[in-house]
Order: sequence, then C-alpha cells, then structure tokens
Amino acid sequence: MKHNNLIVKPNTKINLSKISTSDTNGFNSKKEAKAMLKDNIKKMVELQAKLYAQDKYAMLIIFQAMDAAGKDGTIKHVMSGLNPQGTQVYSFKQPSKTELDHGYLWRINKALPEKGRIGIFNRSHYEDVLVVRVHDLISDQITPLKFRNKNIWKQRFQQINNFEKYLYENGIIILKFFLHISKDEQKKRFLKRIDDPAKNWKFSEGDIKERAYWGNYQKAYQEAISETSKTYAPWFIIPADKKWFTRLVVSEIIVYEMEKLEPDYPKLTGEQLNKLRKAKELLLDDKK
Ligand code: AMP
Ligand code: MG
Repeated sequence: MKHNNLIVKPNTKINLSKISTSDTNGFNSKKEAKAMLKDNIKKMVELQAKLYAQDKYAMLIIFQAMDAAGKDGTIKHVMSGLNPQGTQVYSFKQPSKTELDHGYLWRINKALPEKGRIGIFNRSHYEDVLVVRVHDLISDQITPLKFRNKNIWKQRFQQINNFEKYLYENGIIILKFFLHISKDEQKKRFLKRIDDPAKNWKFSEGDIKERAYWGNYQKAYQEAISETSKTYAPWFIIPADKKWFTRLVVSEIIVYEMEKLEPDYPKLTGEQLNKLRKAKELLLDDKK
C-alpha cells in the first residue's frame, strides 16, 4: 500500500485542518486490512530478530496525538508479537520534580533504545513544545528569566532537530507518527469511555479540559511538525478516525523502514565456523 503521501516533506508548512483524518489511501476492506496487519507483524518479528542479532542500529518510534486518537491501541496491536527482550516502551507523563530539575531532554536520553532494540515512545520530548506551550508551563522548566524569551519555541525546534540528527548519526533510526483524529471522533470515543465500564479508567475529567484547547493544540502540533520533519527523522501524519487503517498503515511504514536497513544475521568468519564445527564434534562425542 502506498504511504508516501503521509510523510511530511522537510521545510514545508503543513495545515492540519486541510489534512484528512479519515482517508484510507483508497483502501476499504477492513477484513483485508486485518489480514495485512497480521502479515506485517510476522515480517516485523523476523526483521526484529535480525536487528537484534545484528546489533548495529536501534529504532526509535515516536507516537504523538490528541487524547483518544489511539496511541495505546496502535502500540498494542502493531507491536504485539515482537520479542519483549528487544523492545522497550516508554510512556512520558507529567515530569517529576527531579525531571524538571534537568533539561527536558534528560529523561528522553535515559529512555533511548540500545543498539539492536526498538524503542517506542508513547509521547516524547514533543510534549515540551506542545502541552508546555499550550499551557505556558515553561517557567516550571527554565528558571532564568532571560532564557524564557519569545524565541523559545523556535529555539526548542532547533534543539530537537540537533538532538535527533545526533541520534541518527549514531545509528538510531527515528520514525515519528502523529495520529490525526477529528474533534468529532474524539467526542465519540470519550462518550464510549464514559459508557463502557471496561473503558471508564481511560477517561479523566482533565480530558474534557484539554479538549477545550483543541485549536491551540492543533496550531502547536502543526508548527512543531512543520519545523521538525527531516529526512533523518521524518514525521508521518496518520489519519486516525478509523482504527483499522491507523494500525495497518503504521505497520506498513515500520516494515518498510526496517527493510531499508537490510538487517541480517551476522555472517561468521571461516575461523568462527571452524570453532562451531569443533564444538559440534565435542557435543556429539559427549556420551552422557
Ligand atoms: P496519558 O498519556 O493520558 O497517560 O497522560 C500523560 C499526561 O502527561 C498528558 O496529559 C501529557 O500532556 C502530560 N505530559 C507529558 N509530558 C509532559 C511534559 N513534558 N510537561 C507537561 N506535561 C506532560
Ligand atoms: Mg490520557
């Protein structure tokens, strides 16, 4: 399935209100989508095993979205079946006092995937140019007044770009997914969370308060995405009103990007193969 249209080209200004939240790239069969997702998960499992054995690259997959856009569900469905040993999921919440006493990238650095692993971020350093911007929380983070100037967001975009370039140049492949949901679909999902006892826990009063800032968030997202989609760390805007499509297309992109790395099991040298042969002989001679 094509997904090239979902990448945000570097140095282009996007307008989220003009980007569809329900498009399915011409794909309409939910049943077929489920089968394709299953197939992609199989491929991912194989690719992950090789990535791990190869111990060369790490992958960092970032999910950002408005509430109820499906971050948790996408992570659960797309990443199911992967070897937990090679996968690390981090959910970034409101920063603790200790985290606030450090620069905003400190906790991010600590959570980065090691070589050979896939790291999944449920929220990320982008919160520091989203919620922090929308709710003007910068004074909790930066104490000297002279550094809280009006260019602070531009500066942060620059810092994030520099940081992600540094990660890339150290072998961390970054993919960033914005799950783009409509305000209407969010309302439907919130109502479901309120009506379904199994989903009650997912709903908090604060969600309604955040919803009131919808416009501010869309603006903050659109600027952050426009300023930080780079060839070394691209953003993908994923229509999120139809969960089956979100999951399928995210899995397609991950498989595609993993295949590009051509991960393979390490090839042994002649000497190593000889050692393996000798070990086999020893084992076969061992009569116990
Ligand atoms: P949830 O993902 O629903 O568990 O909620 C986590 C909450 O933590 C969200 O409301 C985020 O906006 C908030 N959060 C995450 N990172 C930050 C941050 N750097 N500063 C302030 N709030 C944050
Ligand atoms: Mg929440």
